[in-house]
Amino acid sequence: MASIRTRLTVAYAGALVSALAAFGTALYVARRAAAYQDLGHQAIVEADRILETVRSHQAANGPGSIADTVPLETPGAPRSVRLSKELSERLERLGGYFIVLDPGGRSVYSSFAVRRLHRDDLSQLQEVALRLPVGGDAAARVPLTRDTAVARRLLIVARGDTSIAPVVSRVVTGLPTETADLAPRLLVGTMLVIAPLVLLLSLPLAYYIGGRTFRPVDQLINEVEAITDGRSLHRRLPTDPSNDELSRLSSTLNAMIGRLEHSFAALRRFTADASHELKTPLTVLRADVERVMNPSTRTGERAIALEEALQEIARMADLVDSLLTLARADEGRFDLVREPTRLEPLVREVFETATILGEDAGLGVALPVLEDATVLADRRRLRQLFLNLITNAIKYTPRGGRVEISLARRQQSGEVAFSVRDTGIGIAAADLPYIFDRFWRADRARSRSSERSGFGLGLAIAQWIAQAHSGTLAVQSRLGRGSVFTVTLPITDDLVRDVAAGPGAAREPADRTERASAEAS
Ligand code: ADP
Repeated sequence: MASIRTRLTVAYAGALVSALAAFGTALYVARRAAAYQDLGHQAIVEADRILETVRSHQAANGPGSIADTVPLETPGAPRSVRLSKELSERLERLGGYFIVLDPGGRSVYSSFAVRRLHRDDLSQLQEVALRLPVGGDAAARVPLTRDTAVARRLLIVARGDTSIAPVVSRVVTGLPTETADLAPRLLVGTMLVIAPLVLLLSLPLAYYIGGRTFRPVDQLINEVEAITDGRSLHRRLPTDPSNDELSRLSSTLNAMIGRLEHSFAALRRFTADASHELKTPLTVLRADVERVMNPSTRTGERAIALEEALQEIARMADLVDSLLTLARADEGRFDLVREPTRLEPLVREVFETATILGEDAGLGVALPVLEDATVLADRRRLRQLFLNLITNAIKYTPRGGRVEISLARRQQSGEVAFSVRDTGIGIAAADLPYIFDRFWRADRARSRSSERSGFGLGLAIAQWIAQAHSGTLAVQSRLGRGSVFTVTLPITDDLVRDVAAGPGAAREPADRTERASAEAS
C-alpha cells in the first residue's frame, strides 16, 4: 500500500489534469463562440458594403440602371431579370463570397468566388441563403464539401434593403470560418504543450509539500513508538496551542498514555502488594513447619505451631479467594446468578450474625429500620457484601461502641438503601478517596488486633458487588466519630409483580403503608 503522501500526490495530479482539461474545454468553447460572433459581424459589414455599392450606383444612374431584362427564350415563360452590366462590373471588383437575390429568391448576381464553387455546394449555399432571416445577428454555417482548397466552411449572413427593391431583395455574404477556428485551436495547442509542463513542475512540488505536511505525523509516530515500549509511559507527546488536528491528536494520545501509565502502575502495585501479602504468611508457615520438624520441639509447642500454620493457610486461602474474585470481576467473566431476592429476611439473617460478632467484640448492634424490598440479585454475593461492611464496622469500632444496621426504601428513586453505621475510629477525609482501592488500608496500627486486620481487598470487592447489581456503595466518615457505609440497589419488586400479573395489570402500590391503606379501603 502506497504511503498517504504518494496517494495524495497521485490524487493531486488527477485533480490537476481534470481541472486543466475542464479549463481548456471551457476556454476553447468561449473563444470559438467569440470568434464566430466577430466573423458574423465582419460578414454583416461586407453585406452592407455591397448594398451601399448598389445603392450608390442607383443614386448616380437612376433606378433603371440596376437591372437589365433578359430577352424571353420561350414565349410565355416568366420574365427574367439580371443586374446591369455596369453594376456587375462594379461588384466584380469587390471580391469575396456573396450573392445578390431578387424578391423571388432567384440569384441575380453571384461573386467570382461563388461562381467558382462546385454546383452542389452552390445549390446548398443558395438554399440556406433563402432560409436565412434578413437583418439581425442570424448567421448560418454552410459546409463546402467539394472545394476544400479554398474554404471548408462559410459563415453566411443576409442583409436586405427595401429601397432597392423590386430588383434586389437581399445580399448574402459568406466568410470562410478557418480564421475563426484558428485562434481557439492555437489556444488548445498551447495548452496541450503547457499542461504537461505544469504537471511536471507541480508534481514534485506536491510531493514535497505532502512530505512537509506529514513530517509532524512521522515525528508523532516515532515519539509514540518510543513512549509505548512500556518503560517510558511517564513521557508525553509535545503539544502546541494551535489546536490543529495534530495537536488535538497529541492531546488525545497523551490522555491515553496517561491512562495506560495509571493502569500499568496499578498493575505493578497490585502485583507487589499481592506478593507482599503472600510473603508474610508463607514466612510464618515456614517457621511453623520448621518448628514442628525440629526434634527438640515439645509436643505442646508442636500443636501451637500447627494451629498457627493452619490459621496462616486459612488467611492465604482468603487472600487467594479475594484475588480470584477481583480478577474474574475485572475480566467480566463472573457469572452472577441474579434472581428476585427479598432483602428483609437476608438483612435479618446478617443482623443475627452481626449480633453474635458484636457480643464478642463488646459492641451493641441494632436494627432500627427494616423495610422490605425485592431486588434482582445474587443472594450469596449480596450476603458477602453486607457481611463485609458489618465485619468492618465491628473491626474498626472500639469496645463499648455501637453498630446500627438499616434497610430503608427510597420511594422516589425506586431504590433500597442498606446502611451500616458505626461509632468507631472513622476514616480521615484525606483517606476517603482511597478506601475502595485494592490493598489500601489506613494505618495498620489502628486495627484492633493484627489477627483481625484484613488485606485491604474487602471494600474493593464490596464495591464491585454493588456495581455488578447496578447499585452504588458510598461512605461518609469522620475521624474518631464513626462511619456510615450505604449500599443502594434498584428495587425490582413492582416490576416482578407487574410481569407476573401479565400485561395491562393495574400497578400495585409499592410502599407497604400504601398497600396497607389500599387493603383497608
Ligand atoms: P480490610 O480487610 O483491611 O478491612 P477493607 O477493604 O475492608 O480492608 O477496608 C479498607 C480499609 O478501610 C481498612 O483497612 C480500614 O482502614 C478502612 N475501613 C473500612 N471500613 C471501616 C470502618 N467501618 N471504619 C473505619 N475504617 C474503615
